[in-house]
Amino acid sequence: MTLTVESEPTLRTISGRRLRDLVLDRTGDSSLAHEVDVVSQVLPFKVSSYVVEELIDWGQAPEDAMYRLLFPHRDMLPPEDFAAVEQAMREQDRAGLRATVDGIRDRLNPHPGDQLALNVPQSEDTDGWGLQHKYHETLLVFPRQGQTCHSYCGYCFRWAQFVDRSDLRLAVSGPEVMTQHLLRHPEVTDVLLTGGDPLVMRTELIEQYLRPLLRPEHEHVQTVRIGTKAVSFWPHRVLAGQQAEDLLTLLSQLVDAGKHVALMLHLSHPAELATDAARRALRRLADTGAVLRSQAPVVRHVNDDPDVWARLWKDQVRNGIVPYYMFVERDTGARRYFGLPLARALEIYRGAVKGLSGLGRSARGPVMSASPGKVAIDGVVQLHQGPAFALRFLQHRDPELVGRPFHAVFDPVAQWWDELRPYSEHDREFFAGAAR
Ligand SMILES: *Cc1c(COP(=O)(O)O)cnc(C)c1O
Ligand code: SF4
Repeated sequence: MTLTVESEPTLRTISGRRLRDLVLDRTGDSSLAHEVDVVSQVLPFKVSSYVVEELIDWGQAPEDAMYRLLFPHRDMLPPEDFAAVEQAMREQDRAGLRATVDGIRDRLNPHPGDQLALNVPQSEDTDGWGLQHKYHETLLVFPRQGQTCHSYCGYCFRWAQFVDRSDLRLAVSGPEVMTQHLLRHPEVTDVLLTGGDPLVMRTELIEQYLRPLLRPEHEHVQTVRIGTKAVSFWPHRVLAGQQAEDLLTLLSQLVDAGKHVALMLHLSHPAELATDAARRALRRLADTGAVLRSQAPVVRHVNDDPDVWARLWKDQVRNGIVPYYMFVERDTGARRYFGLPLARALEIYRGAVKGLSGLGRSARGPVMSASPGKVAIDGVVQLHQGPAFALRFLQHRDPELVGRPFHAVFDPVAQWWDELRPYSEHDREFFAGAAR
């Protein structure tokens, strides 16, 4: 009997100046293509052939939500910066363009949440580079080869890692850095492999990180999470070919060994779940025994609509995914384009969940992953001195502060934690944690 193995389709990606050509080709709009060219000098953009052919509705571009998620827009840069880049390009001044671009990037807050200063385990020095151990039970691992994605989201808070400045990179050189840290930290129960997207790595490499967790000395690691947007950007990663089969086998083996394996799927819009390839990918991942969970930020132009989130969560439940987090866009990169007020994020969250059954309401949100911890905005309440945001830490460097309600002065335009003020004396301790 001859065995036919479905072959793995080849991933093609388009980035840099070729994006301009793609937009011109698909829309015929040369001023749109020009904007794409200018903005992509500063912020990283890349699309896979799959998103170009299957996810973007080119008849609706640039208004299509997936187009907005994936392509540059002139409003992502302050107008004066846009003009400066445009001028340097026109003058064909390479050094000037480079300096202009570097200056703009530095002003776009490349490392939000003091990630570099506060979370990298400094006592272990260069060893810890690329690990983030902020909450005592969870270790984040950023493998060097996983610091890219099959496509880039315009709102990505890790954009700085994708641009070609080595001083902005945050990654571990190999699995030993992780295993050494785990030996010293028996309190870690969860390892979260993240990036970028770890599923851009070849399966052999992923195995080098995950197989050691099966050793008896890493018994304390009960949960292995993998953060990924591959189901949206390149579902073929798990559909066909040896790389796919080996990855699924690896996940099953971790499950068989008694680990909880969770795929933390980044899902921004229902369109990402609407293709046959995505649904088959989800089914194959679930068949390994891994749990599928979802998270994404609520952002303008893409999903700032309660009905979109209601559909997204409904479709997730139907496809076996447990909604986990609705995040607030961080203060970095293109936030001027994607960001929205906390009060609006809350309305969207509440508008979305009110029509869903309990299974669709499992996402916590809106949540800010801020410097001191993860803060949920639970609502707006009327107190004796005026309206307040009701807040709660879901995670904090200091576990004593987790789960206790506190209040900030209501601010209808505030978009981030650092714009909030304690409502009363009792609330001060919750705002003091940034330097811990
Ligand atoms: C969100 C996050 C985690 C995981 O938190 P959970 O509440 O367990 O999902 C771990 N580390 C960092 C730095 C995080 O931002
Ligand atoms: S998938 Fe995640 S890491 Fe990759 S570009 Fe999107 S937001 Fe950034």
